[in-house]
Amino acid sequence: MQHILIIEDSRSMARLLQQTIGEQLGLAADIAASRAEAEQCIRNAPEPYAIVLCDLTLPDAPHGEAMDMVLAHRLPCVVVTAEFTPALRKRLLHTPICDYVVKSGPRTIRYLVSVLERLMRNEHVTVLVVDDSPSYRNNLADLLSRQRMRVLQAENGRRALEILHDNTDISLVITDYTMPEMDGHQLTEEIRKTTPPDRLSIIVSTGVEDDLASRFLRSGANDFIAKTATFEELVCRINMNLNMLDLISLTRELSERDALTGLSNRRMLYQSGARMLAEATPDIPICAAMLDIDFFKKVNDTYGHEGGDEALRQVGRMLTEHFPPPCLAARYGGEEFCIIFPPGADPAHCRERAEAFRRAVESATIACGQHTFGITVSIGIAQNSNSALEEILRQADQFLYHAKRTGRNRTVQSLPEEGLS
Ligand code: GH3
Ligand code: MG
Ligand code: MG
Repeated sequence: MQHILIIEDSRSMARLLQQTIGEQLGLAADIAASRAEAEQCIRNAPEPYAIVLCDLTLPDAPHGEAMDMVLAHRLPCVVVTAEFTPALRKRLLHTPICDYVVKSGPRTIRYLVSVLERLMRNEHVTVLVVDDSPSYRNNLADLLSRQRMRVLQAENGRRALEILHDNTDISLVITDYTMPEMDGHQLTEEIRKTTPPDRLSIIVSTGVEDDLASRFLRSGANDFIAKTATFEELVCRINMNLNMLDLISLTRELSERDALTGLSNRRMLYQSGARMLAEATPDIPICAAMLDIDFFKKVNDTYGHEGGDEALRQVGRMLTEHFPPPCLAARYGGEEFCIIFPPGADPAHCRERAEAFRRAVESATIACGQHTFGITVSIGIAQNSNSALEEILRQADQFLYHAKRTGRNRTVQSLPEEGLS
C-alpha cells in the first residue's frame, strides 16, 4: 500500500493531517518532526513514499534543507510553508516540487488534502502535450510528470491524432495553436468529431490575440491558457479540468451501476441491451436470461437485511465472474437479475452456461457475521432474433415464472405445449 510522509514539527497539525488523509483518502501517513527523522523514515521505508508533504522550516532545517533532501531522493514533494515572500516564491518556482501550499489557518488541511488527492489520482492520468517547440514541450512535459502524470508528446496536430488513436486512455490534451501540418484549432475540431468534452479535456495554451480564446472554446476546447500564465495558474487549471472529468465519470458511474452489487442497473441494461439487440438478425439470434433468488424473503427474515444484502452481493460477484463482457449482467431490481448474451452466441451453449451458474450458486456458501447459509436461484432463458428487448425479457420472465411454479432451483427455456395456449 502506498504511504505518505508528513514532515512537520507541529505535532497537532501533523496528527490532524494524518487523520484527515486516512479518513478522506484511505491512505496511511508517517510523521517526521525533523529533517533527521524524515531522512530516517525515507531510508527505512519498505517502498518509496508516494508523496512527501514537507514543512519548509524545521528546528534542524530552517531554510528548506528538508525539501532539498526529499528532492535528492527523487520523491514527489509538496511544500508547506508559513511564511511566503516574492523571493521564496521565485526559489520554489525553480525547484522541481509538485506544488506549494501556504499555511492559512484551518482551511489549509482541507486544501492540502485536495492537492494530495489530485496528485494520487494523477498516477492514472495520461496527458498529451502538442507543441512544435521542443523546449516548450519538454518544459511542460517535465512539469506534468512532476504532477505524477504519464506524459506523451506530439509536434503537431496530425501526429497528435495518431497518438490519440493508439492511446485511448489519454484524458487531457494540452495544445499549442500555430503548428505545421495541422494547427491546434483543426486538431480540436477533429478530436470533437469523435470525443466529447466530458470524456477528454482539451486545454489550449498559446499566445493571446483578439478572439482566439473564444474561437477555441466554441470549437470544443475546455479551457484556454495564455502561454505567459504562471506555473500556479497552469497547475490550478489543469487540476480543475481533471477534477471536472473525475466528477463527470463518477456521476456516470452512479447513474449506470447498482450500488450494492456493482452490476449494471436496469437503466444501463436497457441502454446497452438495445445496442446489442440491434445486431441481432434471424441468422444471428440473441439469448437473454432472467433469474430470481428463491425464497429470498426468508433469507431476510432469518439472517436480517444484512444477510440478504450479502446474498445479493454474492450473486453479483458470481454473475460478474461467470458472465464477463461481451455478456451483459445486470441487477434488474430487488432480487431479480438479467443476463444478455452476445448476439450470435450459440443458444444451447448459453443455456448450459445459465445452468452451470445455477449449480454454482447452489454449491456456494454465503457468510454473514457468525452465520453461513446457502441460496438457490430460478432461471428463465429465452432466445429471439427480431423483437424488442422488452419482448425477449418478457418471455424470459414467463419461463422464470414457470421455473418458480414447478419447484424452483431450475433453469427453464420453454413452456410445455399446454402452457402456450
Ligand atoms: P420467490 O422464491 O417466489 O422468488 O420468493 P421470494 O421470497 O424470493 O420473493 P418475494 O418477492 O416474496 O420477496 C423478495 C424480497 O426481496 C422482498 C424484499 O424485501 C427483498 N429485497 C428486495 N431488494 C432487497 C435488497 O436490496 N436487500 C435486501 N436485503 N432485500 C431486498
Ligand atoms: Mg507554435
Ligand atoms: Mg425471489
